[in-house]
Formats: sequence, structure tokens, C-alpha cells
Amino acid sequence: MKIQDIIVKLIFDSRGEETIEVELQDENSDLFRAQIPSGKSRGKNEAAVLGYDAAQKVVASILNKKIIGPDFNYVRELDNFLISLDNTKNKSKIGGNLMLGISIAFSRMMAFMCGKELWEFLSDEFFGGRASSESEKPLIFSNLINGGEHANNNLDIQEYMVVVGGGKPISLRVKKLISFYKKLGDILKAKNKLKNIVIGDEGGYAIDFKDNFEPIKILEDLIYKQGFKKEFSLGLDVAANSFYGKGGYSFGGRKVNTKELGKIYSGYFKKSKLLHSIEDPFAETDEDGFKKLKNSKADRIVVGDDLTVTSPFLIEKYAKAGLISGVIIKPNQIGTVTESCEAMLAAKENKIKTIVSHRSGETKDNFIIHLAKAGGAYGVKIGAPVRERILKFDELIRIYD
Ligand code: PEP
Ligand code: MG
Repeated sequence: MKIQDIIVKLIFDSRGEETIEVELQDENSDLFRAQIPSGKSRGKNEAAVLGYDAAQKVVASILNKKIIGPDFNYVRELDNFLISLDNTKNKSKIGGNLMLGISIAFSRMMAFMCGKELWEFLSDEFFGGRASSESEKPLIFSNLINGGEHANNNLDIQEYMVVVGGGKPISLRVKKLISFYKKLGDILKAKNKLKNIVIGDEGGYAIDFKDNFEPIKILEDLIYKQGFKKEFSLGLDVAANSFYGKGGYSFGGRKVNTKELGKIYSGYFKKSKLLHSIEDPFAETDEDGFKKLKNSKADRIVVGDDLTVTSPFLIEKYAKAGLISGVIIKPNQIGTVTESCEAMLAAKENKIKTIVSHRSGETKDNFIIHLAKAGGAYGVKIGAPVRERILKFDELIRIYD
């Protein structure tokens, strides 16, 4: 398969931040696109991000000469070529965002040529062609209350998610989730005597609360009240890097150390029967914190995100060391489709759960939904069911139901 042309376009993500769209043209002049999201709470080992101007320069000075012309018969072949061309530790020469844009757009080109859905094509190239079975419909991790770096409120915890499962078609799960989200908005407005309610980066409600636990209590009570306790549970993304610094963690208005923060979480798990998973509970350098929490909470899921940055190497390392029982997969943390798939395979081999995830700055691109289906993900994390994120819910329904 030959790439005939490559064009980088300037677009803006859901936060109004600059990002890029990559457009590849095949030999028949068909066009294949990819839009790249951006993260605000980032792990230190994430792939480098180039701005639009820099990305254009890379295309003009390196990529035009190198990838227009040769035949690439697999996505893996193109990705490996780009990785060797870049030859840096964090893809700083070509940029993880530009590389991923090319990699996703090329995957779409290949899928089109094979007459397959994108997820089917990815499944064949990377996962041995094993289609996701009915039992592999993913849990939906939907962030309904926003805090931390994603909001201007008093919550230290970044994301309070409902985790929606149940054996029903995905469309019914989404319907329940939307009604739950609206009901929650009504309750929060009434409780705080608000006419309108502020929304955070991922579409969740972003008002002040009494403390970091109150949102868990409100969500849990509403789940019981709605009679959803069989299908709904709760997940947190603490994103603890954001309140970690010299002298420990600044949490709930005071300084706490690793042990004290661990005790706070244990209290949460005791008080909330529905609390199912906790992501980045400690800073990415605090391996001890992760290990102790994971060991003491065998029935809940301790998830790595900033810790693991979708690196197959780090996922294997931290799964083997007993730090995590689940992992977030964000393609733009690593920068190619091939490595994102390898990250999912590394998680599977090490028997930890995979949650394929959006970023806080999103685009209309639905690649992550196809990746989730191809790799049989345990969960998909796509924010609240509103605004641009609704497109991902629509695609989820289309390809799973
Ligand atoms: C996250 O931390 O899981 C997240 C989605 O936020 P961001 O994209 O800002 O890293
Ligand atoms: Mg996270």
C-alpha cells in the first residue's frame, strides 16, 4: 500500500486547545483521516507532542521524502519504520501525536483496502483475528463529576466515574447512563440552589463539594435510589501526580504521606460497597503506595495511567511487580497503533484488565472504540455522555450492538 500524500491540519480539541488532524491520500486519491486528542494530566514518560507548525515542518523536511513512495503492507511495518526514523526515547523528533495520526490514518487506509471495519482489521493484524464475543462487551467508565486539573472546584480527585455494565445491549446501558447523568444534574442543582451547573473538561459536573468523599456518597445513593445497583458501580481517577510535591500529597486541605493517603482510600472502600476501581491513586514515582494498596484490595481494581503511559514495557514491569491489576490504554501516550496494541497484549499476558481511554481534550475521532473492540477491552473510558463525547457512545452502540 503506497501513501500518495500527507497533509497536517490545525484543529482544536474540546478544550479549545490546538491539536492536529492528519490526512493521508492513497493511490486512488481516497482520503483517510485521524484527529489526535490532548491530555492535561500527563505522565512524565508520555510521547512528545508537537505543535501544528512544528508538525508541518517535520512533514516537509522528513516525512514527505521518507513515507511517500515506499510500499507498506502492514501497519506494524509503517510504525516500525517511523519509530526507527524518529530514533528518540520519547518520539520527540517526529512527535507522538504526528506519528499516531499517520498510524491511525494508515490503519483506516488498510482497513478500507481490505473491505473491513477498522476494528476487524486491527483484530486481524494485531490480535490474531479473534472477534470480540458477546461476553466481551466493555464496561463503560463515564466521568460524571470532575475535579483536579479538569475543573475549577475544590475536589482533589480528578474523576468520579460510574462504571456501567450488565448483560444488556450497549444502547440500553447508554440510555440508562444518560438518564442517570441528567438526574444527577437535577439533584446537584436542587441541593446547591443553582439555576445552571458548571461542567468540567470531560462533561462531568464541576461544582464545589463538602469534601473529596461527598461525590462518591451522592453517586452511590443515586445508584441505589434508581435501582441500578446490579449494573452500575463506581470508579475513581485520582490522578495523584497533580497534588503530589515536596513534602508529600496535598489532599483535602492538608499534607499527607503515602501511608495516610492509603488509609483515606481504605476508608472510602469501607464506606462505599460500589467503589470498584481506583486509577493513579499515588504519584507515578510512588511505587510503594501502589503496591500496598493493590495487595490490600484484591477485590477492587488498582489501575495505572500516568504510571504506565501505554508502554508495553512499563505495563509488564508494573504488573509483574504487583503494583496494578488494571491499566489505561491511551494511544497518544505512546504514539503508534502497533505499540497501543502491544500494550493491550502485554496487559492480557500479565492478566491485568485493559481500559481503553479518551483524553480530557477530545476530538470527533472514534479510533479508541475500534481499538477496544479489536483487543477485547475490559472497559472503555469516554467521559460524560454529552457534547463531542456522545459521538464515541454512538460508535460504541454501532459496532457492539
Ligand atoms: C486521565 O487522566 O485519565 C485523563 C483522561 O485525563 P488527561 O487526558 O487530562 O490525562
Ligand atoms: Mg487518568
